[in-house]
Amino acid sequence: MQVRFLPRGHMPSFLDEPIGNIRYFAPAAVKKLARLKIATVRDLLYHFPSRYDDFSDFIPIADAKPDCAATISGEILSAKNIRTFKKRMMITEIVVGDESGEINAVWFNQPYLLNQFQTGRRINLSGKIAPNKKRLCFSNPAYEIADSGRGGSLRQKEPLHTGRLVPVYPETYGLTSRWLRSIIKPLLKFAGRAPDVLPAELRKENNLPDFESAMAQIHFPASVENAASAKRRFAFEELFILQMFMGLNRLKFQRQTAPAVPFDENAAKKFVKTLPFELTGDQKKAAWQIIGDMSQNRPMNRLLEGDVGSGKTIVAAMAAYLAALKNFQTAFMAPTEILSRQHFEKIAPLFAKSGIAAGLLTSSESRIFSNSGEKISRKKFLEKVADGEIKILIGTHALVQKSVRFKNLALAIVDEQHRFGVNHRAALLKNGSGAPPGGTPLVPHLLSMSATPIPRTLGLTIWGDLDLSLIQEMPKGRKNIITKITAPAERSEVYEFIRNEIKNGRQAFVVCPLVEVSEKLSAKSAEGREIKAAKKEQAFLQEKIFPELKIGLLHGRLKPKEKEKTMAEFLNRNLDILATTSVVEVGVDIPNASVMMIEGADRFGLASLHQFRGRVGRGKHQSYCFLMADSPSAQTSKRLKALESAQNGFKLAERDLEIRGPGDFTGIRQSGLPDLAIASLADLRLVEETREAARKILSRDPNLKNYPILKSRLAEFRNRVHLE
Ligand code: ADP
Ligand code: MG
Repeated sequence: MQVRFLPRGHMPSFLDEPIGNIRYFAPAAVKKLARLKIATVRDLLYHFPSRYDDFSDFIPIADAKPDCAATISGEILSAKNIRTFKKRMMITEIVVGDESGEINAVWFNQPYLLNQFQTGRRINLSGKIAPNKKRLCFSNPAYEIADSGRGGSLRQKEPLHTGRLVPVYPETYGLTSRWLRSIIKPLLKFAGRAPDVLPAELRKENNLPDFESAMAQIHFPASVENAASAKRRFAFEELFILQMFMGLNRLKFQRQTAPAVPFDENAAKKFVKTLPFELTGDQKKAAWQIIGDMSQNRPMNRLLEGDVGSGKTIVAAMAAYLAALKNFQTAFMAPTEILSRQHFEKIAPLFAKSGIAAGLLTSSESRIFSNSGEKISRKKFLEKVADGEIKILIGTHALVQKSVRFKNLALAIVDEQHRFGVNHRAALLKNGSGAPPGGTPLVPHLLSMSATPIPRTLGLTIWGDLDLSLIQEMPKGRKNIITKITAPAERSEVYEFIRNEIKNGRQAFVVCPLVEVSEKLSAKSAEGREIKAAKKEQAFLQEKIFPELKIGLLHGRLKPKEKEKTMAEFLNRNLDILATTSVVEVGVDIPNASVMMIEGADRFGLASLHQFRGRVGRGKHQSYCFLMADSPSAQTSKRLKALESAQNGFKLAERDLEIRGPGDFTGIRQSGLPDLAIASLADLRLVEETREAARKILSRDPNLKNYPILKSRLAEFRNRVHLE
């Protein structure tokens, strides 16, 4: 057997056989399938129908009626091609008869069909009968020769395209369902050779059909119920594999050793007392969970999730502070310089009160916080990190440069974690040090932070290797952001409103229309159009609407330095309005901005809209969000209305999942997860069942010694799927 690259631990099975090795697949077919990314038997068998046509009831020809769908079976009485000169069309016409009567059938411009329609043979036809014709006539029906052919007996064979529930595949690249049926059907005979990846006891507990029969029934179901049960089995299978994968990652992570930071309750309470505000209940709970994790010598891997402005930074700072009191270091990584600086300026003074040194490191800056304002060289700065004097190092991905060495890093914090790749995180964790003599190096505890609320089902699946701490409660006194859907006619009112806010000393954002990405448009040219729109908007606002104001422009093609510069100008109030594409910087606090105007709001997802809105309302001023929508469809109206009425990001995320489905959540479509798995991510019950099933197996047999098939499938999965 010729085998493609297979990952380690993978035991090739029949399913891994390249299609090209199967005798009845001609090279042309192999090439065609490659266009659908189908290379192996598994790929082909797991290419599931998207629906079924019900052609299951044969009726006598005499019972067929015009303008109705019907399935009949009969003998071909005559067949011919007719050329219509007027319309330059080729019509293939046959007459079919059974004991009850006769019926015609026609196809257009497929003259080659005639070769198959030999008189005397048995044929099945399924489809719609043309209205108001003198004679009953099928127009372009599904057809199938129903006997096994010349010389042989006129024995019935099992139908594929007619006379049954007929699978309809997602058709792409000109591959028809008819063709896919004809190549999948013969392969199903061999499905029994593939071992079932779902252990028998699991199938029994969850009432799932076995692999072989489920595979047969999902493609060619005997009944609607069978199709549903087969589909449930494969949805279960896909989610179960995902859950096993997550569970294994989690176990692997936990097998490492981390420095235990002893829990000092008094110090924690004292720190909380020094804050200028009272922590919310959720902040306290999250802090306690984090501190609890850190007191173990198993590394923490926790995601702190809370809406923009919910106060995640202070929770992270508290963990860093407690580590510093026990002489451990913390690395706090943020995606941009401006955000790093902002964190540094907030956190460092808190630490200074207890004489704890904090440092800021970006590619352009290295600064230590001190009252004396003493300046030190970058070299000297890095020495202070290496000898452990700087207890908390805040900065951009400059933190993972080789020149940065820690003495005893116990905690790695990653803010806006989705902005970093796996590599950045891994590089940060490599900085663990203080290995006991002869032992493996310690890994730091990892705290990731995100303001993107995720629905519960996703938290239990694709983020299932993390522990979650949620901050759902906003700090006291935070005003709701007044949100309003605005029609084009109200545009000038909104401009006047903005003018007035600016007169009162506030600032405003204008997010510009996202150009819809049509399939042909590359991401790059879509971005180009988006930038053009933002530039145009800036010019328009500057020349036509607000000639007296200063208007800045922010977009994705600016160099990071230029972006930062514009953000800094806005922060320092050198700009009144910032026109921006959807790149508008995450996380940066512009407490003085009070208006967010979103053009083309109907084109954004709820999560994005919510993120944009979160840019305002971060100070003491009442803030406003205007959703400009040209002519929203019913579905978008629903979305925008949800935003008008709800402020809570978690509720919005659930709503978004309901309205749009899981595929539109960041990174999921690109993950390489099978479509069925993606669709099933919204099914809380199935998610919980599969999680429980995976948990059971992993607690009994964490190395999967007794589950070689499962182990091998997981190796294959690891190779194929990319989850951030
Ligand atoms: P995010 O969760 O978006 O990172 P931040 O941590 O930047 O939010 O907090 C937003 C603002 O709220 C900051 O100015 C912070 O000082 C303030 N803040 C945090 N917690 C509280 C609280 N419990 N009460 C009042 N203000 C708070
Ligand atoms: Mg933040």
